[in-house]
Amino acid sequence: MSDLPARRLLLVHAHPDDESINNGATMAKYAAEGALVTLVTCTLGEEGEVIPPHLAHLAADKDDVLGPYRSGELAAAMAELGVTDHRLLGAPGRYRDSGMMGAPQNDRPDAFWQADLDTAAGDLVAVVREVRPQVLVTYDPDGGYGHPDHIQAHRVAMRAADLAADPAFRPELGAAHAIEKVYWNCNPRSVVEEGFERLRAAGLSFPGVAEVDDVPGVVPDDQVTASIAAAPEHGAAKAAAMRAHVTQIAVDGPFFALSNDLGQPLLGDEHYRLVRGTPGARDGAREDDLFAGVRTQDGPETAADTRETAR
Ligand SMILES: [Zn+2]
Repeated sequence: MSDLPARRLLLVHAHPDDESINNGATMAKYAAEGALVTLVTCTLGEEGEVIPPHLAHLAADKDDVLGPYRSGELAAAMAELGVTDHRLLGAPGRYRDSGMMGAPQNDRPDAFWQADLDTAAGDLVAVVREVRPQVLVTYDPDGGYGHPDHIQAHRVAMRAADLAADPAFRPELGAAHAIEKVYWNCNPRSVVEEGFERLRAAGLSFPGVAEVDDVPGVVPDDQVTASIAAAPEHGAAKAAAMRAHVTQIAVDGPFFALSNDLGQPLLGDEHYRLVRGTPGARDGAREDDLFAGVRTQDGPETAADTRETAR
């Protein structure tokens, strides 16, 4: 059999920091449990705004060296989460941050937004066929909030899931692999609203407060199909990982702000919509494990469990 751990989770994100904000507690949990957690980040977030004044010179409109700097932030964040397998799509610098929708950077030939879908998906197929994840996590078709790189990350992830399973697609990239379950990140509206109530009650240091609809992927509660409740250590790891993205995120206790300086709740629990695959929970109930019902847990983790049971 393969040397891969029994459970394998792949996450596809647009920029360094998205993984920690959206999935930090989930990644910390599964990494701690011995699952293989693989993060693929599609760009280095070269067009991001920089929060700390002393690092402002890194920005694209100044020295334009934010990408390599954020690569270091990402590595520090992954150390906080206990995630050792993090990669850039294709190669470092292959796909550049496209900037916000409508920005002239959208049109740069190296912008991720301009990438040929099957070429970029092929770069991801190589990873899928290597690590053979049962579970894929990415954004919804709107990318959570309409950023071109998030939309493109969604498209590339979904296309790669299809192509990886097709033995006729670029067989040189490895044996075909079908991902059992695909989830999109989301946030239940009631949880986000409650978080903003806490934030307003706390009266924090941020210059302003964001709106519920500024939070990516807010959906009606009944669309959420899986919730990962953050154990205290995993919630703490998530907050530490977010803090590691120094240029992008200002964390203040259970709240944080992006470069717009608008406070929002730091949500420890993370939520998902299953969009492909069979739910592992009974009718209507939310799953509490992304691997619930997964059939192909065929690595050493499972072998150890089996021996334990047989004894
Ligand atoms: Zn992003």
